[in-house]
Amino acid sequence: MPEPCAYFRGEYMNPKDAKIGIMTHAFHYGTATFGGINATWDEELEQFCLFRLKDHYRRQLTACKMLHMRLPYNADDMSAITVEAVRRTGFRQNVYCRPVAYKSSESLGVRLHDLDADWLMIATVLPPFSSKGGLRCCTSSWVRTCDNQILTHGKICGGYANGALAKTEAQMAGFDDGIMLTPEGHVSEGAVTNTFFVLKGRLVTPPPSDGILLGMTRDTVMQLARNELGMETIERSIVRSELYEAEEAFFTGTYAGVVPIVEIDHRPVGTGEVGALTTRLQELYRGLAAGRNPKYSPWYTFLKPD
Ligand code: PMP
Repeated sequence: MPEPCAYFRGEYMNPKDAKIGIMTHAFHYGTATFGGINATWDEELEQFCLFRLKDHYRRQLTACKMLHMRLPYNADDMSAITVEAVRRTGFRQNVYCRPVAYKSSESLGVRLHDLDADWLMIATVLPPFSSKGGLRCCTSSWVRTCDNQILTHGKICGGYANGALAKTEAQMAGFDDGIMLTPEGHVSEGAVTNTFFVLKGRLVTPPPSDGILLGMTRDTVMQLARNELGMETIERSIVRSELYEAEEAFFTGTYAGVVPIVEIDHRPVGTGEVGALTTRLQELYRGLAAGRNPKYSPWYTFLKPD
């Protein structure tokens, strides 16, 4: 029977058997950084495609540096372990990989230095993301943490309480997600996704200085728009009025892909239907991330299970 597989303290095991102690520093203070990587199953070719694997680990290692963590693994080691864990699951369907680098010392006291760090990886299956023909969003009352409150360019675990508050508020009010603004009122991101808008026919996304995570999907979509559609993405601050002026809007993220937003604060985005550019980018991204575009082969790591 296929089952999830974890790499923990140098061994592969079922995630149920991987346990950390209740005194672990990261558990108390969120002093950890996680990642999310897709291994997309190709039913026809009977192989997995792990998308931008090394880039994901380069980003995680940068976040480790931000948190004063030194790990006994480099991006090559982490990539090889990830491929092996996916292989060991025995799954023949999309697998989601969740690496976590964390302060592993069993020691209380808020700080980052003089603590041990460890890295673990979980390969598992998530329910497919459903966008039901487009999301209905609200502007969150929760302000997105800014870069001198928590380092927004890394996926710092403690920072995710911010996204959790926004998502919960949105869902309890009947929306799918909340769009968070910066303390200055600029559009930042969804709870776990970057945002894009079509404004007067141009593709626009918030810049790295507006509290965003430097999303891998964001970067991929910008490259796809340029290379495949001849369209430059404008990185600039976006104000709230523009949420209601946009002709199209979408979220990007590894788990979600390119996800249309059809309504914001009870106002239709454009016509209220999924826009043409969003649909095109969604299709391009889907094919690319599934390993179907040989032009982008440096981004692919294929695994053919035995
Ligand atoms: N923003 C946040 C806060 C995220 O956690 C994520 C990923 N979960 C993203 C954006 C999207 O990043 P990526 O495209 O690298 O998955």
